[in-house]
Amino acid sequence: MTQNILCEVSSCVHNVNQENKCGATQIYVVNNKSKNASNSEETDCKTFEPTS
Ligand code: SF4
Repeated sequence: MTQNILCEVSSCVHNVNQENKCGATQIYVVNNKSKNASNSEETDCKTFEPTS
C-alpha cells in the first residue's frame, strides 16, 4: 500500500531526512489519554522512536 504520511516530528528516526515525511512501513496512532480522542491533539504516534 502506498502511503504518504506527513509528520513534523523531526526528532523521530522514521522522519525521512527530517523533511516532514514518515518513512515507516506502518504507524500506530493511539489516544494520548485513557479516553477516546475528541480532537487531533489527543492522538499520538506510538511508532515514534527518538533519534538519539
Ligand atoms: S513514526 Fe510517527 S512520529 Fe515518527 S515520523 Fe512517522 S508519523 Fe512521525
